[in-house]
Amino acid sequence: MAAQTTEPEAAQQDDLYRLRHSLAHVLAMAVLELRPGSTLGFGPPIDDGFYYDFVLSEPLSEDDFPELEKRMRRILAGGPGFEREDLPVADALERLEAMHEPYKREYAAELADTQQLATLSFFRTNGFVDLCRGPHVETARKIPADAFKLRSIAGAYWRGDSRNVMMTRIYAWAYRSRKELQERIRAFELAQERDHRKLGRELDIFVIEPDVGPGLPLWLPNGTVLREELEKLAKEYEFRRGYERVSTPHLAKTDLFYRSGHLPYYEDHMYPRMAIQDHGVEEESDGDGEAVVRAEYVLRPMNCPHHHMVYAARPRSYRDLPLRLAEYGTVYRLEDSGALSGLLRVRGMSMNDAHIYCTEDQVKDEFVDVIQLHLDLYEVLGLSDYSMRFSTWDPTTDKGREKYVDDPPAWELTQRLVREAMDEVGVPYTEGRGEAAFYGPKIDIQFRSVTGREESASTNQVDFAQPARFGLTYQGADNREHRPYVIHRAPLGTHERFIAFLLEHYGGAFPTWLAPVQVRSITVADRFRDYAENLTAALREEGVRAEVDPGEMSMGKAIRQAVTRKIPNVLVIGEREVAEEQVTLRRYGVSEQETMAVEEFRTRLRAAIAGRSATL
Ligand SMILES: [Zn+2]
Ligand SMILES: [Zn+2]
Repeated sequence: MAAQTTEPEAAQQDDLYRLRHSLAHVLAMAVLELRPGSTLGFGPPIDDGFYYDFVLSEPLSEDDFPELEKRMRRILAGGPGFEREDLPVADALERLEAMHEPYKREYAAELADTQQLATLSFFRTNGFVDLCRGPHVETARKIPADAFKLRSIAGAYWRGDSRNVMMTRIYAWAYRSRKELQERIRAFELAQERDHRKLGRELDIFVIEPDVGPGLPLWLPNGTVLREELEKLAKEYEFRRGYERVSTPHLAKTDLFYRSGHLPYYEDHMYPRMAIQDHGVEEESDGDGEAVVRAEYVLRPMNCPHHHMVYAARPRSYRDLPLRLAEYGTVYRLEDSGALSGLLRVRGMSMNDAHIYCTEDQVKDEFVDVIQLHLDLYEVLGLSDYSMRFSTWDPTTDKGREKYVDDPPAWELTQRLVREAMDEVGVPYTEGRGEAAFYGPKIDIQFRSVTGREESASTNQVDFAQPARFGLTYQGADNREHRPYVIHRAPLGTHERFIAFLLEHYGGAFPTWLAPVQVRSITVADRFRDYAENLTAALREEGVRAEVDPGEMSMGKAIRQAVTRKIPNVLVIGEREVAEEQVTLRRYGVSEQETMAVEEFRTRLRAAIAGRSATL
């Protein structure tokens, strides 16, 4: 039974859709065999298989899956057909009544009513009849018996409404072949294995504590190393490109956000206002004759307004431009608590932000430079599976006219400049008409994570509207006042999303330069400890994050633990190493170990860290 009537035609025609839809019926048949008297809810195909909801006469658990699968295969082996039967609505409702299917009956009555249907369709397979719109395979012979697998069991309210009965939902995988099924299950397991929440816990990267608040991660020392290394990377690359750094507060008066337009439009996504009374010299009296200044503050949802105020804090001339103001700025957004997820959806985040103020003539070159910066940073991080999307304005629809700043010439101009910049860099991109932000065209960079998730990493926008709202100007060579353009950019996105992405990308096994612990020394016996400690002290002197294993476990166990922690370089120190001033290096993920002079190791380590190399 399909839950809705809104699936696109193409999906309905798809053979995988038919196969999954049909298997859902077969699951229902097996469940009714094993739990007679159960009633049915919805049983639609979904992305990687299907599910079916039941009100069970007796509970089922995952332990019952083998038995259910066996029964499903037995049904399939008989090769029954899926025969369609159309009944006038009144007869259909009567049949569902007789079948004691109250939920299907409720839905059927509603469907017939809202869609003004004259008939309702049923599908019959052996003795099982299900209200369903189809389509199905003609016969169960078309369903491979080894390409599905029951997956999990969960509670689900009838029609997703907590006032309704809680049903039991059985999920299943289903594909065209056993091979495809196994591949998809493996990919899913990899995704589980690499889930940033799991790795974040195992590697002590971050925690989220209820007393601090949902969506407000606490970065542990290891996670803080990752943040600081990324910031160092960004700062170096930005410095070379002429960025200047600023530091601005996390909150501001509501006046600032009325000016930017975040208030009132974005207010739902902001923490509530804080009313403050400052004793001062202005405005109303508090009754005791003392002057009180009343003001409302909000946590900022974006850094832009603060940066615009830095720009506006002094008169600017064309000689000051381009002015590139950068900050790893912290912002707060009141995401829905149900949407919060590890580091991917949070309520406080630090962004690799910068705003480039420039003249019209400079927009294209600055945009080229911004895109080039992305490419450089991604190369350092070993990221190559990304794509760029050019989001443009669409004034041809009502929605478009309503959404966008009404300045067609400015749209045309900025879009032309972005297009020219993209063509100059020569990176491929797709175009999304009508997907621009309300104040200018943008380039979004999407990553595909190892687990197959599409991840929006960064947005670069040319903005001609905010400078006007903030009254930003510069004095041109002609001695007249002009309006600058602003480019918003954040190649490394927010620490939260980006580190979640990197954790999954590297599976927690970071290259040496980025790893929270870069070198751990393990001694074969306690008498080699001094040697290991002196070496570690010398490395730390150079800024290397080195440590000595406490020596509380056997050597084998200590090495295994270092592997579990995904430490990139483990040094084993024993008799020979001490006598010959050597180390034995075990690299993470490399099976052969390597013995070398201490000095050689230090030279290689230094080069790998300085060059942010993927290897040592
Ligand atoms: Zn069906
Ligand atoms: Zn911005």
